[in-house]
Amino acid sequence: MDHGAFGQLVKELSRLPGLGPRSARRIALHLLTQNPGPARPLADALIHAVNTMKICTTCGMLDDHDPCYICVDHRRDPSQLCIVAGVSDVWAVERTHQFKGRYHILGGILSAIDGVTPDMLRINSFVHRLTTEAGSHVTEIVLALPATIDGQTTSHYLHDCIARAVPADRRPTLTRLALGLPVGGELDYLDDGTIAAAFKARAVVP
Ligand code: ZN
Repeated sequence: MDHGAFGQLVKELSRLPGLGPRSARRIALHLLTQNPGPARPLADALIHAVNTMKICTTCGMLDDHDPCYICVDHRRDPSQLCIVAGVSDVWAVERTHQFKGRYHILGGILSAIDGVTPDMLRINSFVHRLTTEAGSHVTEIVLALPATIDGQTTSHYLHDCIARAVPADRRPTLTRLALGLPVGGELDYLDDGTIAAAFKARAVVP
């Protein structure tokens, strides 16, 4: 069954996140037996994307251009820099239309269990960015990292890096996203940690 060209395709598909051999086989079968088949346009789009898309050397964003569309957008506020773990986090923040600054994508977060060390992330380029002319305009760094132990560890590490790299009188304010109630969330259905975080981060009613 999984031999020859078909086997090769199944093998590659099953390396994708969330796909085991069974679903890989089902997708491969679908791709090759439909008429007109979706396989060729998919292959063309994949090759085009692989050949065209680049990682922005400034921020780590995925785009057709380097520097990316966010880094070259002069309507963006140069005083705000938002640190996120991945490209999809940029999309998530952009969907809110709440942030008009620029981003720095780490490419993951520190993790002792998964063996992710600082040199595996885009931390050096972040520190370098802060010490450049463009970096001197940054007055706020927003840490938009996962609300997990690893996210906290990464935040602390970045805090130390910033403290070492930038003199106290020019150091940007470090902020992080508030933890708390999801919009539309009912207290009774939330876990204790979320309610505790929401209590701690309670704000004056505007
Ligand atoms: Zn960029």
